[in-house]
Amino acid sequence: MGDFTLDQIADLPFGLCLGGKVVSASDGGRFDVLDPATGAVLATVADGTVQDAAAAVDAAHAAAAGWAATAPRKRSEILRHAFELMTERAEEIAHLISLENGKALADARGETAYAAEFFRWYAEEAVRASGAVMTAPAGANKIVVLQQPVGICVLVTPWNFPAAMATRKIGPALAAGCTVILKPASDTPLTALLLARILEDAGVPAGVVNVLPARRSGEVVSAMLHDPRVRKLSFTGSTEVGRLLLREAADQVVNCSMELGGNAPFLVLEDADIDDAVDGAVIAKMRNAGEACTAANRFYVHAGIADEFSHRLADRMAALRVGPGTSADTEVGPLVNDESAAKVDNLVRGAVAAGARVVVGGTRPDREGFYFEPTVLLDVPVDAGILSQEIFGPVAPVVTFTEEADAIRMANDTEYGLVSYVYTSDLARGMRICEQLDAGMVGLNRGIVSDPAAPFGGTKQSGVGREGGHEGMLDYLESKYIAVTW
Ligand code: NAD
Repeated sequence: MGDFTLDQIADLPFGLCLGGKVVSASDGGRFDVLDPATGAVLATVADGTVQDAAAAVDAAHAAAAGWAATAPRKRSEILRHAFELMTERAEEIAHLISLENGKALADARGETAYAAEFFRWYAEEAVRASGAVMTAPAGANKIVVLQQPVGICVLVTPWNFPAAMATRKIGPALAAGCTVILKPASDTPLTALLLARILEDAGVPAGVVNVLPARRSGEVVSAMLHDPRVRKLSFTGSTEVGRLLLREAADQVVNCSMELGGNAPFLVLEDADIDDAVDGAVIAKMRNAGEACTAANRFYVHAGIADEFSHRLADRMAALRVGPGTSADTEVGPLVNDESAAKVDNLVRGAVAAGARVVVGGTRPDREGFYFEPTVLLDVPVDAGILSQEIFGPVAPVVTFTEEADAIRMANDTEYGLVSYVYTSDLARGMRICEQLDAGMVGLNRGIVSDPAAPFGGTKQSGVGREGGHEGMLDYLESKYIAVTW
């Protein structure tokens, strides 16, 4: 698409998308969206207020009964149409993601396809919200269980997958018959606004999907969680904000699904195929320049192969082409903002001060934008801060082990439990280790686990609930039990 600019997307709205209309914020406020490759202003977007949040709930409420009563087949066909429109417009969407998030186009294309798949998968699930009928054990009556939409949902998404984190929530919510208000991350609201357009074109009635960009996210989300018409919060973001929102949701006992932070361990056992393990490590670490909740954050490598693994990983990392996400040959884009790049820099400096050795990378390159060099650190002390916090950047710290039990213990020694990765050529051993890893997901000889057909989610402080798969729709359904004698 050559040098892509925003005006190539004719129908991109820059206002709030409420009740099928694009409107200004109630106080006329707007905020800037920056280009992470240059730091320049890309666009300005309406900045939703508490008053707009009430209007968004009004719109979702007005549409709720009609959408819940819409035939599942009809809801399914609309979602399928949304999948087709996203697929037709995939290049535009990928360029937009790349422009506002900074990720390399290849990553943005991958995200677009992944995001669209949630609409296809939930088009297929929309007609399969089955309940149950049984005879009560005492024999006097029947137990009938209906599945009904949970109600109006507030969806809050992060900036790192601006399309996929939105469709992963909107798809199952719409399939279940719920209406929604999406509050996208302030760094990346444009993709969500384009999705609102695509859903409208796909036939989603006005008010079923409302998009409310807002920089004062705390106030705006809190207002919605205190509106008794709102029954569901689905949040993807940091554990810190997740905890705050769980407390806010407690006041009205709002049903919560939380997809929070991760600190994924990547175990390479002595019998692993090193070629496969290095390939998997590059994918698990470098997708989105490391800005993924599933990013491998800590590499535990058997001492017998640690040198070979680390140097081969370093060679691959050094060869990656760093540049603006929208340039055709870029493999690693900038980080989303200056704060993120500074945080990664601090973590690396801290590890080096504690004794880690830099094999490759290690600094912010001397250029405009929010870049960090692909980095491999060796001899990282087990108590270094970089091993206990989400790095969210292109840095691979390597720790060695000799006993399998120690590797599993170190892998589980975190308050997070989103995903773990294991490489071994002994499948039975691998399965045994998978059972012992305290995580919602494990990649066994694979550096990527995300799949719309699979239940994605974490244990411990990585979250509550699952997105994707059959389980993903259950989060938007409420069981209603009817005791009946006939
Ligand atoms: P964040 O928690 O800062 O923000 C997430 C969303 O919450 C944004 O829309 C933001 O505007 C909003 N928000 C921030 N403060 C709020 C408040 N007080 N009240 C209400 N809303 C508020 O996270 P981020 O920096 O955008 O995203 C990165 C984080 O997301 C990482 O921790 C990453 O691991 C996590 N993440 C998790 C998953 C998963 O599926 N588990 C997927 C992607 C990202």
